Amino acid sequence: MNTGTNIVIVEDEDDIIDVLVYNLMREGFSAKAIKRGDEGLNVIRQELPDLVILDLMLPGIDGLSVCQQLKADSKTKDIPIIVVSAKSEDTDVVIGLGFGADDYLAKPFSPRELLARVKVALRRKQGSQTSETNDRLVYDELVVDSTRHEVLVSGELVKLTATEFRILYQLASNPRKAFTRERLLNRVVGDRIIVADRNIDVHIRSLRKKLDTAAVMIETIRGVGYRFSPE
Ligand code: CA
Repeated sequence: MNTGTNIVIVEDEDDIIDVLVYNLMREGFSAKAIKRGDEGLNVIRQELPDLVILDLMLPGIDGLSVCQQLKADSKTKDIPIIVVSAKSEDTDVVIGLGFGADDYLAKPFSPRELLARVKVALRRKQGSQTSETNDRLVYDELVVDSTRHEVLVSGELVKLTATEFRILYQLASNPRKAFTRERLLNRVVGDRIIVADRNIDVHIRSLRKKLDTAAVMIETIRGVGYRFSPE
């Protein structure tokens, strides 16, 4: 079974490469591992894979530089990048996200968790290519319907303010993608529109209260901002 999905792994530890390649191939993905940052960058530019799994500490050039260069190039900027790193401090998460990575996983991670993230990133990429907006997002008990401007939790209609709706829609249409407070607010209200409260935390707090059991899907990333985590 081959899904036709090509994944490039830039990682210098043999044990991790073995586990990744084995698990990705078992899922029907083609996987290739490159051990140096500079070589990884070249291969990715040539082959334009569907997804990149990127270690941070690498010989050649480091993972953050690889990430930054891929995201700065229009040919490679839409390739999802999942950063995996042994450095799990918050500062590294912030840096990783600031450099445009799509997701971050701290080592050691389970192959199952990584595969779940890979699938989400691939789905998100596919979704953004096929349609500009998803009309109806469904995650367990939560339904976000952008055509009707409606939110349902366990079948019950939830009344949100326009800003709350836009925040929820922005998060829910980008599952697992981390947003800084500033980026989220600018996506939602823009720079020029004056809103009563530019403090995103106030809107999130109110949103969570209204979402009841679905509130857990809005995850706070300490020192960074928020992300929508449906599982
Ligand atoms: Ca390494």
